Amino acid sequence: MINIVLFGKPGAGKGTQAEFLKEKYNLTHISTGDVFRYNLKNNTPLGQEAKGYMDRGDLVPDELTIKMLQDEVEKHPDTKGFLFDGFPRTTAQADALDAFLKSKGWEVAGTVALEADDNILVQRLLERGKTSGRPDDQDEEKIRNRYEEYNEKTAPLIDYYKAQGKFHAVDGIGDISEITKRLTAVIDTFN
Ligand code: AMP
Repeated sequence: MINIVLFGKPGAGKGTQAEFLKEKYNLTHISTGDVFRYNLKNNTPLGQEAKGYMDRGDLVPDELTIKMLQDEVEKHPDTKGFLFDGFPRTTAQADALDAFLKSKGWEVAGTVALEADDNILVQRLLERGKTSGRPDDQDEEKIRNRYEEYNEKTAPLIDYYKAQGKFHAVDGIGDISEITKRLTAVIDTFN
């Protein structure tokens, strides 16, 4: 069992890299953003509750997000490990994840952050918005709000995981395959 948290600002390339990492390490990939978008598209009660927050580029409240994450984890009792993408994003979520995994005799093996300059990322997201159809990628104000949310609520997790000796970072700028190599070099040190 190896549980990895992929960390990084919106547009840093978490989703792209997760596709390679889940294959290489045989992990169950859980992207909370994807799960929320699926619920939005299918107009489920969860999607209806999350919609306003997502439209504004705000984080969805912890209680809702944690419950959703736990439900996703429970769907895969026989997995060899999880690749968490976009979760946790607040200290409360990280605490809940630790406690939840511990209740199963599991833990977070490590977190890896994809680092990149904000201005490059904003441009990347605006570019992605032209094809992704995501309203939160198409409006620079919403994008900036997502970065404010990140700086205020998610950045404290760097110290949170550093205190546990579980924080690692790689340069997120470069060829996709080069970045995958940087990530796997770090992940191969987890046990
Ligand atoms: P993402 O695809 O990871 O950029 O997520 C898109 C949106 O989904 C975010 O802007 C939030 O509104 C919501 N979301 C995704 N993951 C979380 C999370 N862990 N906590 C709160 N909101 C989240």
